[in-house]
Amino acid sequence: MPTPDDHSAAQARAAIAAALGQIGFTLPGSITIRRTRCGKPRCACTADPPALHGPYIQWTRTVNGKTVTRLLTPAQYEAYAAWFANARRLRALAAELEALSLTEMARAEGWAKITPGTPAPPRTRPVRGAPAPSAARTRTTPNHLKRREISPLNPGSAHQNPAKYAGQQGFVGGPLQVRA
Ligand SMILES: [Zn+2]
Repeated sequence: MPTPDDHSAAQARAAIAAALGQIGFTLPGSITIRRTRCGKPRCACTADPPALHGPYIQWTRTVNGKTVTRLLTPAQYEAYAAWFANARRLRALAAELEALSLTEMARAEGWAKITPGTPAPPRTRPVRGAPAPSAARTRTTPNHLKRREISPLNPGSAHQNPAKYAGQQGFVGGPLQVRA
């Protein structure tokens, strides 16, 4: 299979590998920053202009197929922002390596064209060989859940451990209102 043309592909692969070698710690999931209204009639968040609550820094990821959200303090967010950026870089490099590999396979096999197909699994959601229909369902469910309150299934969330979070900035003593 190897031919003289492999040289440029090998160089491209080496460049990706070098970039991968430079990556530091990586955190899965995504960050959403929200400012909210609490719904109490005389609160400043109903004034004009409103003084909204927050910001609430929500870290959302998938654990065992479930969407898990945890609040980060501004200090935590600042401390780990680079780790989230590293994870995005890692996904981009992985996609680059896959595209390069597909091109190489097509060239080596003499295929005029190779369809890239589905890109790498989005973010942190693992794909475990589930059949297509259920895979399609699991892709839509998390997005739906993300628009709702903090998952009560998350044992570490402010929802279930209010005392643990009571001293943190932005905590209002109950589940977040995520609509504002
Ligand atoms: Zn309010």
